[in-house]
Amino acid sequence: MFIQDTIVAIATPAGRGSIGVIRLSGSLSLSIAQKITYKKNIQPRVIVYTNLYDNKNEVIDEAIVLYFKAPHSFTGEDVVEFQSHGSPFVLDTLIEQCIGLGARIARPGEFSERAFLNQKIDLAQAEAVADLIDASSRTAAKMAIRSLQGEFSKRIQGLNQSIIHLRTYLEATIDFSDEEIDFIQNGNVIEQLKTIVSAISDIRGQAAQGVLMREGISVVIAGPPNAGKSTLINRLSQKEVAIVTPIPGTTRDVMREYIVIDDIPIHIVDTAGLRESHDLVEQEGIKRAIKEIQNADCVLWVVDIQDPVSSQDVNKFLSVDLPKNIPIIYVINKIDTCAHSSFSFADRDGEFSAKTVYISAQSGEGFGHLKNQIKESIGYQDNQGVFLARRRHLQALDQSLNCVQQAAIELNNNTGIELVAENLRLAHVALSEIVGEFSSDDLLGEIFSTFCIGK
Ligand code: GDP
Repeated sequence: MFIQDTIVAIATPAGRGSIGVIRLSGSLSLSIAQKITYKKNIQPRVIVYTNLYDNKNEVIDEAIVLYFKAPHSFTGEDVVEFQSHGSPFVLDTLIEQCIGLGARIARPGEFSERAFLNQKIDLAQAEAVADLIDASSRTAAKMAIRSLQGEFSKRIQGLNQSIIHLRTYLEATIDFSDEEIDFIQNGNVIEQLKTIVSAISDIRGQAAQGVLMREGISVVIAGPPNAGKSTLINRLSQKEVAIVTPIPGTTRDVMREYIVIDDIPIHIVDTAGLRESHDLVEQEGIKRAIKEIQNADCVLWVVDIQDPVSSQDVNKFLSVDLPKNIPIIYVINKIDTCAHSSFSFADRDGEFSAKTVYISAQSGEGFGHLKNQIKESIGYQDNQGVFLARRRHLQALDQSLNCVQQAAIELNNNTGIELVAENLRLAHVALSEIVGEFSSDDLLGEIFSTFCIGK
């Protein structure tokens, strides 16, 4: 247990509400509650309905007081919660009283940090607390609660157990190198390495989806002027966010909207129509559009079904090479103006036609298919059993995957059992960082400082 000062914060959102919650954590929590309530007999986990008093003996409010005795609390320390009326004045007065009695204002995320330091939750679970509160869709919230309940951590711990188990064979080979026993063969080490590689890849795939659900995916709408890009963003967001005109070149800046498609958070970006232009403002808009396209998770390349410019390849059209891994969906718009079966691209190739969707941004025809294509192109699957994750988790998983693959190569090439063992140790360290077993103070500071006060 860490002996620390007592912290206090308002745990409910700023503003007025029917109830406001103030949370205290630390060794002074109970005595502060006793002084504010004038009640000596506050029992752990027993609700007390009482008046709260200030230091002049005046009633601040009527409230419920709850006491959780260490270590049986969220933080692992003595915790008291006051549930008063949600008036900012009541809550501020209550905070002042707590500070006057020896508490100090909590830093952002300090309650969760203490829970982590007192081993009530691991680091991935602490992050899940924040992610649950910030979840932007029902699915994201469900995924966060799975992480909070330890599903993600259990998978990581399981991987670590397998790596530790494997390391025992390697250590035995190093320690008993004079003996005739073939620990590598007996332990089936090569097979086990393969199993671990596939297990890490599997978790990485799920974590990558978790990151998408947490951060939202960036879908960029691009293409030549007048193809119907603004009409498309308006229909997708069900709002008139962009100006629609028959005059080419009206969208000159980047426009962003946040939408949710089938519970997937999406940052949708409308960009300036791409064409040769001598207009300085339009040129800048085109530059910005290209930048957005290069950073997208998915590009909707919109063309007018009757416009011959549609047959141009996107890369040629942009005169830049797009990163290979950005999925592009070719959206052929305005199908209401002709029978799309008669339409064909001059340079249609396998990939080109495979991701082509025909729509009418005006009437909404084809939108079901478009939404499915967006989901498919980002690798979205039904999220049952998947947890919310962060980019740092992905980096750690990548690092551990590299190390285990390197270990397999070293073993195969007979370059020395010490190198194999060292790579497995590094894989173990990388995975342990996810749950916070080997985390630096800097990393902890970085994580918890992004939390709200009172969390
Ligand atoms: P942007 O320049 O690519 O953003 O294109 P806009 O969304 O401003 O649309 C250009 C013109 O095409 C406008 O007159 C729209 O009304 C029209 N338009 C957009 N989508 C469709 C569609 O699906 N069908 C038809 N018939 N017209 C459309």
